[in-house]
Amino acid sequence: MSLSEWATDYVHLLLAVGRHDANFVDAYYGPPSWKAAAEAGSPRPLPELRTEVLRVMDGVSASAVRGDEGLRRDYLLGQLAAVEAHLARLQGQRCSFDDEAEALYQVRPPQTPEATFEGALARMDHLLEGPGSVQDRYQKVRERTLVPPDRVDAVFQAAIAEARERTRRHALLPTSDHFRVEYVTGKPWSAYNWYQGGGTSVIQVNLDLPIAIDRALDLAAHEGYPGHHVYNALLEQRFAQPAPEGRGWVEFTIYPLFSPQSLIAEGTANFGIEVAFPGLERLAFERDVLFPLAGLDPSEAERWAQVQTEMKVLAFADNEAARGYLDDHLDRAQAEAFLVRYSLRTEAQAAQRLRFIETYRSYVINYNLGEHLVRSWVERQGGTVADPGRRWVVFVDLISSPRLPKALGL
Ligand SMILES: [Zn+2]
Repeated sequence: MSLSEWATDYVHLLLAVGRHDANFVDAYYGPPSWKAAAEAGSPRPLPELRTEVLRVMDGVSASAVRGDEGLRRDYLLGQLAAVEAHLARLQGQRCSFDDEAEALYQVRPPQTPEATFEGALARMDHLLEGPGSVQDRYQKVRERTLVPPDRVDAVFQAAIAEARERTRRHALLPTSDHFRVEYVTGKPWSAYNWYQGGGTSVIQVNLDLPIAIDRALDLAAHEGYPGHHVYNALLEQRFAQPAPEGRGWVEFTIYPLFSPQSLIAEGTANFGIEVAFPGLERLAFERDVLFPLAGLDPSEAERWAQVQTEMKVLAFADNEAARGYLDDHLDRAQAEAFLVRYSLRTEAQAAQRLRFIETYRSYVINYNLGEHLVRSWVERQGGTVADPGRRWVVFVDLISSPRLPKALGL
């Protein structure tokens, strides 16, 4: 069998796994008949799927490759190894947080010492003057950046338009490029990009909790441009589409969430924000356009940007809370208290994050560690802060390639 035939079996396998876990298939835009076939009858038993994943891995390993098909084979093998680990979990096998992260995302998350978080909190203490705990002062300042509900859509649309315009100058988006925003409630995430195929995405924004102004660019760039929407669109355009536009690599018509591809997806989506808005450009855009549009005081923008820099350090607290909770070193109340203390969340936000951790588990590392690893790789290719043009080139090359964390030499 050729690599393409094994790739077809890979897609059928993933669709079958999706019957056992509704969160597993994040996007699928291959032949509808394949999906219909996978959904007919009762789900294939897990032991059968584990046998199948090993058979496809053997087949892919033994396939002859030509030219850049080496990356294609590595991609399939990396993804399949994660599918095998996910199936083991669905069958009830348990492993540590670190082992799970490595099996699914190809990286072993380092532990961040509490002293690192304490350091960020101490700097925050300086930044946010006044009485009360750092947590209280942070929440008070954050309250002044909350977007009134009736302005949320206008603010998001302005952020999306700007992020899209900046991205279009550097990446060849499909002519059908389209990105629709929906507002929802009752979800474990704050926003989600659902790629539909054909260059279109539906982004859902969770309105359960009040939205601070920095979420506008997070959403526009992370979920949209040059984040998830663009990553999916470029992979579809370059690989999934039939020749001559693409390569007809059918494995790119499906995106399994619990796989090494997600570290690249979340890491590039987070790092993409500063690729699109380098240096002080983010602050300028937020202060001069988004704050006024939201009816907020633009003089708050600069300090809020400095606060966000420290929040990047504190983002790693999610990994420690998740590791402690999932490895049974912290109970629910302790994990939530940890998130309140070190990620400065309110109790409601911490509870929402813990629901995310329960649902997506070690996936949390893909945001902070993914961003760190992607940034390091892009900088090693010359895409440094000092050379934003080169940074775009390296970044676009990464989001339009089948590279997995291992291929980045991480
Ligand atoms: Zn994301």
